[in-house]
Amino acid sequence: MDFKEKIRVILDYPQEGIRFKDITTLLQDGPTYKAAIQEMAKFAADKQVDIVVGPEARGFVIGCPLAIELGAGFAPVRKKGKLPYETIQAEYTLEYGKDALAMHKDAIKPGQRVLIADDLLATGGTIQTTIDLVKQLGGEIVGLAFLIELTYVGGREKIDSDYDIFTLVQY
Ligand code: 5GP
Repeated sequence: MDFKEKIRVILDYPQEGIRFKDITTLLQDGPTYKAAIQEMAKFAADKQVDIVVGPEARGFVIGCPLAIELGAGFAPVRKKGKLPYETIQAEYTLEYGKDALAMHKDAIKPGQRVLIADDLLATGGTIQTTIDLVKQLGGEIVGLAFLIELTYVGGREKIDSDYDIFTLVQY
């Protein structure tokens, strides 16, 4: 299946010079969305994943169906101030901007096997912060899965360890 042809590229969004990969066009096509999730699930099928962790908001769109496909749980990573219970936090830098991400302090039990998922890997900032949060909680990271990798940004090389990384579509 040609996943790339379903992804719309928007020039100069959210600022000049950015070629934004708009996944809404893929999501609105049921068979393509399902096939994408199933391809990502294949990567993790033998990893005995207990819980999928995804950063808001597009990390939910990928991470939640992936968790169901794997029979695993899901734990959200959100911008600080959005989660109702006690949280742990970590700072991050985006391709454009800066913020802090948070997780509930009991979202992962120490030793649980964690698959981290998001729609897109660019600089790796979002995912590195997510990794930091999962490590703080004592989760064992068994893989990272993304719908899209922007290989020209080189985020893969900036991630702190040699994790098993799967990306479905590359630019
Ligand atoms: P990074 O932190 O790796 O630089 O950027 C990845 C994060 O920013 C992801 O959570 C992703 O949702 C968002 N992001 C950055 N650029 C794009 C883009 O072109 N398309 C989409 N869909 N998300 C992007």
